[in-house]
Amino acid sequence: RVEVHGVQKSFGGVEVLHGVDLVVEPGTVTVVLGPSGSGKSTLLRSINHLEKVDRGFVALDGELVGYRRRPHRGGDRLHELKEKDLLRQRSRFGFVFQSFNLFPHLTALENVVEAPLSAQRRGRPEVEAEARVLLERVGLGDRAGAYPRQLSGGQQQRVAIARALALRPAVLLFDEPTSALDPELVGEVLGVIEDLARDGTTMVVVTHEIGFAREAADQVVFMDEGRVVEAGPPEQVLEAPRHDRTRAFLAKVL
Ligand code: ATP
Ligand code: MG
Repeated sequence: RVEVHGVQKSFGGVEVLHGVDLVVEPGTVTVVLGPSGSGKSTLLRSINHLEKVDRGFVALDGELVGYRRRPHRGGDRLHELKEKDLLRQRSRFGFVFQSFNLFPHLTALENVVEAPLSAQRRGRPEVEAEARVLLERVGLGDRAGAYPRQLSGGQQQRVAIARALALRPAVLLFDEPTSALDPELVGEVLGVIEDLARDGTTMVVVTHEIGFAREAADQVVFMDEGRVVEAGPPEQVLEAPRHDRTRAFLAKVL
Protein backbone atom coordinates (compact mmCIF):
# COMPACT_ATOMS: atom_id res chain seq x y z
CA ARG A 1 0.00 0.00 0.00
CA VAL A 2 1.34 3.39 -1.01
CA GLU A 3 0.26 6.44 0.97
CA VAL A 4 1.03 9.94 -0.21
CA HIS A 5 0.07 12.45 2.41
CA GLY A 6 0.08 16.25 2.09
CA VAL A 7 3.05 16.26 -0.26
CA GLN A 8 4.43 19.67 -1.16
CA LYS A 9 7.37 20.24 -3.46
CA SER A 10 9.05 23.39 -4.74
CA PHE A 11 11.76 23.95 -7.30
CA GLY A 12 13.74 27.15 -6.83
CA GLY A 13 11.05 28.74 -4.69
CA VAL A 14 8.18 27.81 -7.03
CA GLU A 15 5.78 25.32 -5.49
CA VAL A 16 4.73 22.68 -8.05
CA LEU A 17 2.95 20.23 -5.72
CA HIS A 18 0.57 21.92 -3.29
CA GLY A 19 -0.29 19.17 -0.83
CA VAL A 20 -1.06 15.98 -2.73
CA ASP A 21 -2.86 13.04 -1.11
CA LEU A 22 -3.10 9.65 -2.77
CA VAL A 23 -3.60 6.06 -1.66
CA VAL A 24 -2.72 3.09 -3.86
CA GLU A 25 -4.08 -0.20 -2.55
CA PRO A 26 -2.16 -3.43 -3.19
CA GLY A 27 -3.07 -5.16 -6.43
CA THR A 28 -4.67 -2.06 -7.94
CA VAL A 29 -3.85 0.18 -10.90
CA THR A 30 -3.89 3.96 -10.51
CA VAL A 31 -3.78 6.03 -13.68
CA VAL A 32 -2.65 9.65 -13.31
CA LEU A 33 -3.88 12.11 -15.94
CA GLY A 34 -3.33 15.81 -16.32
CA PRO A 35 -1.98 18.55 -18.56
CA SER A 36 1.72 19.14 -19.15
CA GLY A 37 3.35 20.75 -16.14
CA SER A 38 0.62 19.69 -13.69
CA GLY A 39 3.14 17.79 -11.55
CA LYS A 40 2.56 14.16 -12.60
CA SER A 41 6.24 13.26 -13.00
CA THR A 42 7.18 15.14 -9.84
CA LEU A 43 4.55 13.19 -7.92
CA LEU A 44 5.81 9.87 -9.33
CA ARG A 45 9.42 10.77 -8.54
CA SER A 46 8.41 11.84 -5.04
CA ILE A 47 6.84 8.43 -4.41
CA ASN A 48 10.18 6.62 -4.69
CA HIS A 49 12.19 9.55 -3.28
CA LEU A 50 13.92 10.50 -6.51
CA GLU A 51 12.61 13.90 -5.40
CA LYS A 52 12.80 14.85 -1.74
CA VAL A 53 9.50 16.40 -0.68
CA ASP A 54 9.37 19.63 1.32
CA ARG A 55 6.31 18.78 3.42
CA GLY A 56 4.14 15.73 3.90
CA PHE A 57 5.31 12.16 3.50
CA VAL A 58 5.16 9.01 1.43
CA ALA A 59 4.84 5.57 3.03
CA LEU A 60 5.10 2.10 1.54
CA ASP A 61 3.38 -0.61 3.56
CA GLY A 62 3.51 1.62 6.60
CA GLU A 63 7.22 2.36 6.25
CA LEU A 64 8.25 5.99 5.63
CA VAL A 65 10.01 6.44 2.29
CA GLY A 66 13.39 8.17 2.58
CA TYR A 67 13.34 8.64 6.35
CA ARG A 68 13.33 6.82 9.61
CA ARG A 69 11.75 7.91 12.86
CA ARG A 70 13.92 8.25 15.93
CA PRO A 71 12.30 8.81 19.32
CA HIS A 72 13.22 12.15 20.78
CA ARG A 73 12.07 14.16 23.79
CA GLY A 74 8.91 15.98 22.84
CA GLY A 75 8.15 13.84 19.77
CA ASP A 76 9.82 11.66 17.13
CA ARG A 77 12.39 13.15 14.79
CA LEU A 78 12.92 12.18 11.19
CA HIS A 79 16.36 11.18 10.00
CA GLU A 80 17.23 10.73 6.36
CA LEU A 81 18.00 7.16 5.39
CA LYS A 82 21.60 6.31 4.61
CA GLU A 83 22.35 5.81 0.92
CA LYS A 84 22.46 2.02 1.30
CA ASP A 85 19.09 1.84 3.08
CA LEU A 86 17.61 4.26 0.57
CA LEU A 87 18.74 2.09 -2.36
CA ARG A 88 17.31 -1.00 -0.68
CA GLN A 89 14.02 0.81 -0.15
CA ARG A 90 13.99 2.23 -3.68
CA SER A 91 14.38 -1.28 -5.10
CA ARG A 92 10.87 -1.95 -3.78
CA PHE A 93 9.68 0.41 -6.53
CA GLY A 94 10.11 -0.43 -10.19
CA PHE A 95 10.36 2.63 -12.44
CA VAL A 96 9.68 2.65 -16.18
CA PHE A 97 10.53 5.87 -18.02
CA GLN A 98 9.24 7.39 -21.22
CA SER A 99 12.66 6.91 -22.82
CA PHE A 100 13.36 3.22 -22.06
CA ASN A 101 16.87 4.01 -20.65
CA LEU A 102 18.32 0.58 -21.43
CA PHE A 103 22.08 0.08 -21.26
CA PRO A 104 23.03 0.16 -24.97
CA HIS A 105 26.07 -2.11 -24.58
CA LEU A 106 24.13 -4.87 -22.81
CA THR A 107 21.78 -7.45 -24.34
CA ALA A 108 18.12 -7.64 -23.33
CA LEU A 109 18.91 -10.44 -20.87
CA GLU A 110 21.93 -8.59 -19.44
CA ASN A 111 19.81 -5.47 -18.98
CA VAL A 112 17.28 -7.47 -16.99
CA VAL A 113 19.77 -9.27 -14.72
CA GLU A 114 22.01 -6.25 -14.02
CA ALA A 115 20.14 -4.74 -11.05
CA PRO A 116 19.22 -7.93 -9.18
CA LEU A 117 22.82 -9.15 -9.50
CA SER A 118 24.47 -5.91 -8.36
CA ALA A 119 21.89 -4.40 -6.00
CA GLN A 120 20.33 -7.51 -4.51
CA ARG A 121 23.38 -9.77 -4.64
CA ARG A 122 21.36 -12.77 -5.72
CA GLY A 123 22.96 -15.74 -7.50
CA ARG A 124 23.43 -15.55 -11.28
CA PRO A 125 21.75 -18.86 -12.27
CA GLU A 126 18.58 -18.05 -10.33
CA VAL A 127 18.47 -14.44 -11.56
CA GLU A 128 19.03 -15.45 -15.19
CA ALA A 129 16.35 -18.12 -15.06
CA GLU A 130 13.92 -15.58 -13.65
CA ALA A 131 14.95 -13.00 -16.27
CA ARG A 132 14.16 -15.46 -19.06
CA VAL A 133 10.71 -16.03 -17.57
CA LEU A 134 10.19 -12.24 -17.41
CA LEU A 135 11.29 -11.74 -21.03
CA GLU A 136 8.87 -14.55 -21.99
CA ARG A 137 6.15 -12.75 -20.08
CA VAL A 138 6.66 -9.52 -22.04
CA GLY A 139 6.69 -11.49 -25.30
CA LEU A 140 10.45 -11.37 -25.91
CA GLY A 141 11.52 -14.89 -24.98
CA ASP A 142 13.28 -15.21 -28.35
CA ARG A 143 15.13 -11.85 -28.18
CA ALA A 144 17.14 -12.36 -24.98
CA GLY A 145 20.46 -11.98 -26.86
CA ALA A 146 19.51 -8.84 -28.81
CA TYR A 147 21.04 -5.44 -28.12
CA PRO A 148 18.72 -2.42 -27.66
CA ARG A 149 19.65 -0.98 -31.11
CA GLN A 150 18.42 -4.25 -32.67
CA LEU A 151 15.00 -3.87 -31.03
CA SER A 152 12.03 -1.65 -31.89
CA GLY A 153 10.95 1.03 -29.43
CA GLY A 154 8.08 -1.15 -28.27
CA GLN A 155 10.40 -4.10 -27.72
CA GLN A 156 12.88 -1.90 -25.84
CA GLN A 157 10.14 -0.63 -23.58
CA ARG A 158 9.03 -4.22 -22.91
CA VAL A 159 12.63 -5.08 -21.92
CA ALA A 160 12.53 -2.06 -19.60
CA ILE A 161 9.36 -3.43 -18.01
CA ALA A 162 10.99 -6.87 -17.54
CA ARG A 163 13.99 -5.10 -16.01
CA ALA A 164 11.76 -3.22 -13.55
CA LEU A 165 10.02 -6.48 -12.59
CA ALA A 166 13.33 -8.26 -12.01
CA LEU A 167 13.79 -6.47 -8.68
CA ARG A 168 10.48 -8.03 -7.54
CA PRO A 169 9.12 -4.59 -6.68
CA ALA A 170 6.09 -4.03 -4.48
CA VAL A 171 4.93 -1.24 -6.81
CA LEU A 172 5.61 -0.41 -10.44
CA LEU A 173 5.70 3.26 -11.43
CA PHE A 174 5.32 4.20 -15.12
CA ASP A 175 5.95 7.72 -16.43
CA GLU A 176 4.32 8.02 -19.87
CA PRO A 177 5.62 4.61 -20.95
CA THR A 178 4.20 4.86 -24.48
CA SER A 179 4.53 8.53 -25.37
CA ALA A 180 7.91 8.10 -27.10
CA LEU A 181 6.60 5.25 -29.28
CA ASP A 182 5.33 5.22 -32.84
CA PRO A 183 1.55 4.84 -32.69
CA GLU A 184 1.59 1.28 -34.04
CA LEU A 185 3.85 0.17 -31.17
CA VAL A 186 1.77 1.64 -28.34
CA GLY A 187 -0.65 -1.29 -28.19
CA GLU A 188 1.96 -3.99 -27.55
CA VAL A 189 3.33 -2.09 -24.54
CA LEU A 190 -0.09 -1.26 -23.11
CA GLY A 191 -1.03 -4.93 -23.61
CA VAL A 192 1.88 -6.02 -21.42
CA ILE A 193 0.90 -3.49 -18.72
CA GLU A 194 -2.71 -4.72 -18.89
CA ASP A 195 -1.50 -8.32 -18.43
CA LEU A 196 0.43 -7.24 -15.35
CA ALA A 197 -2.70 -5.51 -14.06
CA ARG A 198 -4.70 -8.71 -14.48
CA ASP A 199 -2.05 -10.57 -12.47
CA GLY A 200 -2.55 -8.14 -9.59
CA THR A 201 0.62 -6.05 -9.94
CA THR A 202 0.35 -2.80 -8.01
CA MET A 203 0.97 0.07 -10.42
CA VAL A 204 0.84 3.82 -10.80
CA VAL A 205 0.74 4.78 -14.49
CA VAL A 206 1.08 8.33 -15.78
CA THR A 207 -0.37 8.27 -19.29
CA HIS A 208 -2.57 10.11 -21.76
CA GLU A 209 -4.03 6.81 -23.03
CA ILE A 210 -7.63 7.21 -21.91
CA GLY A 211 -8.63 3.84 -23.40
CA PHE A 212 -6.04 2.16 -21.20
CA ALA A 213 -7.34 4.06 -18.17
CA ARG A 214 -10.87 2.91 -18.94
CA GLU A 215 -9.80 -0.74 -19.35
CA ALA A 216 -7.17 -1.19 -16.68
CA ALA A 217 -7.53 1.45 -13.97
CA ASP A 218 -9.11 0.85 -10.61
CA GLN A 219 -8.56 4.51 -9.80
CA VAL A 220 -8.10 7.51 -12.08
CA VAL A 221 -6.47 10.61 -10.65
CA PHE A 222 -6.75 13.92 -12.49
CA MET A 223 -4.08 16.49 -11.62
CA ASP A 224 -3.95 20.15 -12.56
CA GLU A 225 -1.53 22.85 -11.39
CA GLY A 226 0.03 20.72 -8.68
CA ARG A 227 -3.20 19.49 -7.13
CA VAL A 228 -5.35 16.38 -7.35
CA VAL A 229 -8.54 17.84 -8.78
CA GLU A 230 -10.46 14.59 -8.59
CA ALA A 231 -9.89 10.89 -8.09
CA GLY A 232 -12.17 7.89 -8.34
CA PRO A 233 -13.11 4.89 -10.44
CA PRO A 234 -12.76 5.39 -14.21
CA GLU A 235 -16.55 5.32 -14.74
CA GLN A 236 -16.81 8.36 -12.54
CA VAL A 237 -13.76 10.46 -13.44
CA LEU A 238 -13.83 9.70 -17.17
CA GLU A 239 -17.56 9.45 -17.86
CA ALA A 240 -19.03 11.77 -15.22
CA PRO A 241 -16.30 14.19 -14.08
CA ARG A 242 -17.32 16.53 -11.30
CA HIS A 243 -14.99 19.38 -12.18
CA ASP A 244 -14.95 21.68 -15.18
CA ARG A 245 -11.18 21.37 -15.45
CA THR A 246 -11.41 17.58 -15.76
CA ARG A 247 -14.12 17.92 -18.38
CA ALA A 248 -12.08 20.44 -20.36
CA PHE A 249 -8.99 18.21 -20.26
CA LEU A 250 -10.89 15.09 -21.33
CA ALA A 251 -12.54 16.99 -24.17
CA LYS A 252 -9.03 17.75 -25.49
CA VAL A 253 -7.48 14.28 -25.21
CA LEU A 254 -10.46 12.14 -26.22
P1 ATP B 1 4.48 16.58 -18.58
O1 ATP B 1 3.12 16.08 -18.95
O2 ATP B 1 4.95 17.63 -19.54
O3 ATP B 1 5.47 15.48 -18.38
P2 ATP B 1 4.20 16.81 -15.69
O4 ATP B 1 2.76 16.82 -15.27
O5 ATP B 1 4.94 15.53 -15.55
O6 ATP B 1 4.30 17.37 -17.18
P3 ATP B 1 6.27 17.88 -14.00
O7 ATP B 1 7.39 17.41 -14.84
O8 ATP B 1 6.04 17.15 -12.72
O9 ATP B 1 4.91 17.94 -14.83
O10 ATP B 1 6.53 19.41 -13.70
C1 ATP B 1 5.71 20.18 -12.85
C2 ATP B 1 6.32 21.58 -12.75
O11 ATP B 1 7.57 21.51 -12.08
C3 ATP B 1 6.61 22.22 -14.11
O12 ATP B 1 6.33 23.57 -14.01
C4 ATP B 1 8.10 21.99 -14.28
O13 ATP B 1 8.67 23.00 -15.07
C5 ATP B 1 8.62 22.02 -12.87
N1 ATP B 1 9.81 21.18 -12.65
C6 ATP B 1 9.83 19.82 -12.71
N2 ATP B 1 11.06 19.35 -12.44
C7 ATP B 1 11.84 20.43 -12.20
C8 ATP B 1 13.22 20.62 -11.85
N3 ATP B 1 14.03 19.56 -11.67
N4 ATP B 1 13.65 21.87 -11.68
C9 ATP B 1 12.84 22.94 -11.82
N5 ATP B 1 11.53 22.84 -12.15
C10 ATP B 1 11.03 21.61 -12.32
MG1 MG C 1 5.95 14.30 -16.90
